[in-house]
Amino acid sequence: KIEVSAVTKRFSVDGKVLTAVDNLSFSVPAGTTHALVGESGSGKTTTIRLLLGLEEPDSGKIVVAGQQLPERSSASLRGVWRHLQLVYQNPFTSLDPTWKVEQLVREPLDRFKIGTPGERVEIVREALANVGLGEHLFSRKPGALSGGQRQRVAIARSLVLKPDVIVLDEPTSALDVSVQADIVEVLLSLQARFGLTYVFVSHDLALVRQLAHTVSVMQRGRIVEHGTVSSIFDNPQQPYTRSLLDSIP
Ligand code: ATP
Repeated sequence: KIEVSAVTKRFSVDGKVLTAVDNLSFSVPAGTTHALVGESGSGKTTTIRLLLGLEEPDSGKIVVAGQQLPERSSASLRGVWRHLQLVYQNPFTSLDPTWKVEQLVREPLDRFKIGTPGERVEIVREALANVGLGEHLFSRKPGALSGGQRQRVAIARSLVLKPDVIVLDEPTSALDVSVQADIVEVLLSLQARFGLTYVFVSHDLALVRQLAHTVSVMQRGRIVEHGTVSSIFDNPQQPYTRSLLDSIP
């Protein structure tokens, strides 16, 4: 579960104060998926950076899996990252091309010194199996994988620490349309098996419809509309939400 309470984040740009996230509150029950949508600059990326502890709020409170986010510089932030993982938008740039699949997926276990070397291999094998990748791919490097396979590797890597929450930044936008549905399937099956909580940012409202349970529509750092997927799509209250929905081809 995630609780964001009255969070504000300002940046100062060229001597002016810009409120990127303005008194934001939302909660995401465990095992559900929350989508953040809104036009460019509406504060979606800043919100996920705040959730990950990469930015510190000027005011407000964020609680993830029962733990309040500590200060950005504190060592205990590493502990939070065990509960909360990030999958980047673009698996063509997010995976080190010089590493093998097995190393890429194992790295968080090495970093947090979890398990014996043998146990780590087993956890990696399981994580790769859970995203539908076989052992024959273990020794490949990202350059020898398709975009869909790379994104599966990135998802497997996010699973090895057994997080409660996975934050997804435009998880399918860098992929061919033909493999986007596969990634959606993988994400849904992982959620069903492990009760994962997802927060994701997307411009793709079709993806939002497939993956999300609840949606926050953001505009200028604020949530202008919040509700279940069906209420937002079928009965939008705000003109801004309607215009966003009208922009879907
Ligand atoms: P996009 O869809 O284009 O990624 P977004 O909704 O994710 O946009 P944010 O990246 O969160 O929007 O940006 C919100 C506002 O905060 C923007 O006006 C942006 O220029 C500003 N901003 C974000 N990060 C910083 C920063 N580190 N320093 C200064 N201003 C920032």
